Amino acid sequence: MELKQVSDNCFAVLNEKNRVCDANSGLINLAGGVVIDTQSDLAHARQMIELFSRVWPAMPRRVINTHEDADHVWGNQLFRGAEIIAHRSVPERMKQVANPKESQKLLHGVGHFLTRLVLKTLHPGIVAAGQQLLEDYNFDGIELVLPTTLFDTRYELNLDGTEVHVIYVGPCHQVGDTIIHVPKERVVFAGDVLFRQCAPIGWTGSYEKWFQCLDLIVQLNPQVIVPGHGPLCGVEGAIEMKAYLQYIRDESKKCFDAGLTSLDAAKRIEFGPSSEWRAPARLFMNVERAYREFRNEPPDAPWDQAATFDAIYQVAKARGIEAEF
Ligand SMILES: [Zn+2]
Repeated sequence: MELKQVSDNCFAVLNEKNRVCDANSGLINLAGGVVIDTQSDLAHARQMIELFSRVWPAMPRRVINTHEDADHVWGNQLFRGAEIIAHRSVPERMKQVANPKESQKLLHGVGHFLTRLVLKTLHPGIVAAGQQLLEDYNFDGIELVLPTTLFDTRYELNLDGTEVHVIYVGPCHQVGDTIIHVPKERVVFAGDVLFRQCAPIGWTGSYEKWFQCLDLIVQLNPQVIVPGHGPLCGVEGAIEMKAYLQYIRDESKKCFDAGLTSLDAAKRIEFGPSSEWRAPARLFMNVERAYREFRNEPPDAPWDQAATFDAIYQVAKARGIEAEF
């Protein structure tokens, strides 16, 4: 994890591996400070606080959660008493998709030899994902701390004269998707509408919404974008990710029309723009999302997490690459 200054008053902490829990965080170091996203577990959240504390005068009184996923909200409890800002949907969604008890149980199971053996025959993808998580994460002690200030379409802060625009853009990757724009410093904190140099994961939302959001980021013309996952970039990051998503949707359509399942399609479609990225087998989720749209299913159709990780695992195996989640 490293600290980077991205403008006069904006900072980022970046995780290196770009796996599913390696989310980035941001800091706008004005008017007492605003932290954007709080990491996946308490150890990482403490490390983030330690890095940011080199530049902030005291613990910030404000936090923004860019959406409801665990890897962006599980350090919230270390900001006791802070105002936590998020889209109106986020508290209820956090209870559904970021329940720490389930993940704690899973990692304990994967960490236990006999349970792991049983689980492996049923769900090799879950075991592989769990073992990867165990290399870096420990979900013990995490409590869900929900946002306190909710907004619908837009929320504005004025930090010592610097405007901060908190803009709802979901659902594209997840229901609560929000980006944070600091116009004066030409910085956008994109949350998970932008993955950089790693295959994006999308849960709830539509391709069209996602394209609109990436176009909006380009229109805002930032000098620096802090993605939800992966290294810093400029607008080329948004342009490249849109091209990737368009490519996957187009290829998925050909496979759908040919009668292939989404899993077979994901095994067959060339990685294309993502061949140099981390975790390219995550393309299964993007293929499956395209299939859901072709089948006219609602964008909030639930995911079977075990089946999803198993599918990513099978795609990686079929291509002879390491299964990275
Ligand atoms: Zn994330």
